[in-house]
Amino acid sequence: MSQVKKIKLGISSCLLGNHVRYNGSHKRSKYCVEALSEWFDYRPICPEVETGMGIPREPIRLVERSGQIRVLNVTDHSQDYTDQLTALADRRAQNFDDLDGFIFMQKSPSCGLFGVKVYNDNGMPGPDPDQGAFAKRMTQLFPDLPMEEAGRLNDAGLRENFLTRVFAHAEWRKEMFPPSAKALVAFHTRYKFLLQVRSEKHYRELGQMVSQAGKGDINELAEQYFGLFMYCLKQRANPNDHVNVMYHLLGFIKNDLDHTSKHSILNLIKLYQQGTLELLVPLTMIKHYVEKYRVDYLLKQKYLSPYPQQFERYNEEQFKNKYFIS
Ligand code: SF4
Repeated sequence: MSQVKKIKLGISSCLLGNHVRYNGSHKRSKYCVEALSEWFDYRPICPEVETGMGIPREPIRLVERSGQIRVLNVTDHSQDYTDQLTALADRRAQNFDDLDGFIFMQKSPSCGLFGVKVYNDNGMPGPDPDQGAFAKRMTQLFPDLPMEEAGRLNDAGLRENFLTRVFAHAEWRKEMFPPSAKALVAFHTRYKFLLQVRSEKHYRELGQMVSQAGKGDINELAEQYFGLFMYCLKQRANPNDHVNVMYHLLGFIKNDLDHTSKHSILNLIKLYQQGTLELLVPLTMIKHYVEKYRVDYLLKQKYLSPYPQQFERYNEEQFKNKYFIS
């Protein structure tokens, strides 16, 4: 059993194996149910059931009509559920205030977060996909909340990005209420390299914001900072960004390393850059020496340890076992 207090995540109910789909089936996600539930408390919701559509029910889909995207009954276009699904998100918003993330079911006209098919009135799929109605309203209501689709968690980069954002969101809520200039500076310092690798531009803007801490309204500054912070974390780093940051980290330990160790780390970074090795390999090596030489500034860096320690060990174990969504 985990020692870390469980973080609350919203989730599409069918992903937990609940029989709430239109045909009474489910879309159980092995990864969400068996791996992540050890660490997260789920708050399940099935928007279609909660809006009273019943089980079983007739299937629905996104349809473009007069320039608007509506959620309509597949066979009877007079049945329009768009407003109900949107209003549900508004109604439930206050129950979601303590969430640190949300996992949605992909492709759903209610829950899909990315690329949901939009049909025209004649039943043909159109060129521009959209979001499910409930998920779309959730992204408007909670722009800073980490959200992802279960299917996309199969991608190592997207999974790492989502989980990092979830833990960062939880840390912010725990440590920045009420906000203080000192806490903001400490928070930003811990995330320095992680932000830098995601987006140098936004990292610099965030640094400028933090330099204003203590000079004005800290609540306003913290709110602005957090919005940009979560946006920055959402960006995907490319290998060259990681290589630059790893060279930077190496600068902190280079005087402690003997020639062989230094050469070996540089070689691992090069192999990663060439695509021969996973990022984890040079990073683990750097982390080993950072711990060995007790480089305090780097020990606190989220770039080297974005997750709580126990989760990190557990997570690595799960992935070794290929614990994945079917
Ligand atoms: S995708 Fe969403 S609306 Fe559809 S069954 Fe799952 S939870 Fe319900």
